Amino acid sequence: MVSTCRNTARTRPSPDKETGQITLQTGVLTKEANDAASDNGLCLPLGSANTAGVVPMALGGGLSGFASICGCTSDNILSARLVTAAGELVVVSETSHTDLFWALRGAGQFFGLVTELTLQGHPLSMLGTADSTIWTGSIVFPASRLEEVMSALEPLIKDTTVPTAGLFIFTAPPPTFETVIMVLPFYLGPASDAEAFYKPLIDLGPLGSELENVPYNRMNDGVDAFCGKGGFKRFAGAGGTTFKREIWKDILECFEELKTKCPDAAATAYAFEWDSYEPKDKPIARDTAFEHKDIRVWAELLSWYTDPKSHADVFRIEQEAIERFRSQDGGKAVTYQNWSRDVPLEQLYPGPGTLDRLRALKKEWDPKGVFTKLLLPETEAA
Ligand SMILES: Cc1cc2nc3c(=O)[nH]c(=O)nc-3n(C[C@H](O)[C@H](O)[C@H](O)COP(=O)(O)OP(=O)(O)OC[C@H]3O[C@@H](n4cnc5c(N)ncnc54)[C@H](O)[C@@H]3O)c2cc1C
Repeated sequence: MVSTCRNTARTRPSPDKETGQITLQTGVLTKEANDAASDNGLCLPLGSANTAGVVPMALGGGLSGFASICGCTSDNILSARLVTAAGELVVVSETSHTDLFWALRGAGQFFGLVTELTLQGHPLSMLGTADSTIWTGSIVFPASRLEEVMSALEPLIKDTTVPTAGLFIFTAPPPTFETVIMVLPFYLGPASDAEAFYKPLIDLGPLGSELENVPYNRMNDGVDAFCGKGGFKRFAGAGGTTFKREIWKDILECFEELKTKCPDAAATAYAFEWDSYEPKDKPIARDTAFEHKDIRVWAELLSWYTDPKSHADVFRIEQEAIERFRSQDGGKAVTYQNWSRDVPLEQLYPGPGTLDRLRALKKEWDPKGVFTKLLLPETEAA
């Protein structure tokens, strides 16, 4: 029996400076992996939550602000050690159980218990700064300025030539609980270039902005406010191939309705993440079960509330916001399995033949559903 509990003794991730490979056990958090990587001159394409587990995030795909340069997290999995439903420990890689290796990179939570992953790290020089720091921070506006903010931001989001990515968040922080827009940009390159690029936004005169170069392992600290414990949290998301700014007026309406109906949900964040950069040297296209590599904008709705009576309203309003987001792509329903586990599997794995391939592998590796019954015929029939 292998425990994945965070309190279980586990070793610090072990980077190899020569190869850039980083081996880490399950239970290691994003912050811990980033610390270990940067101590060794490396960085990893991980997500924006310091508290998310690296292994589950990577197994589900792993959206990262660095994806346009070095692929999503799962593209950087080199090998995995996995305990099968039969209780055997197997190594899965490009040369060992190759079909399972395809599945583990995007649909990795269904087939066994991954005890360890080896990921490909990248040199900190990827950040494009002389001192290996990254330009980031926050720019805050009152929600009433949505139209102006979107007018300034839209061309920046649609510019595919510049190495930047970011988060746009509606939230209502204490003490006033007034709705604000928080923009958290990341820029790979000198601060002077970053400031010139984001000038149209900064020139609007925000309520406040804190933009600076920070060490790579501190780049996610601005998201810590949404990583706290307590209360109920729901995460729902949807992927978009286009960006239509008008949609966000509707989603702000949803957010305001949520605040009115459920005052206990003020810590909620209705957000989108963008990563439009298309470098000349694109990362190697890997054949994996994660099929959303062409999605450039993700709507990410993190509902955070304390009163169980709010469950129904939180769910209803979240779904309405997701539907509005989807309307920009003609209702196309694509989502990411690390956020939305209660949607039809076709939305998670839409590619032709992908679900059939995953179901066949499930039958081979976990026919009795020791590790979730999803992908087994009886579950889908239920
Ligand atoms: C504030 C916030 C920001 C986020 N930002 C991002 C982001 O930028 N990019 C991104 O990709 N994701 C992001 N996420 C989502 C994140 O990917 C998921 O939460 C993911 O499931 C990480 O897992 P966890 O730490 O929540 O782990 P858990 O809840 O422990 O695990 C999630 C699931 O993974 C499976 N699992 C766990 N461990 C193993 C294992 N060892 N072997 C096999 N299966 C296992 C289990 O089925 C479990 O239900 C964010 C989440 C939050 C809360």
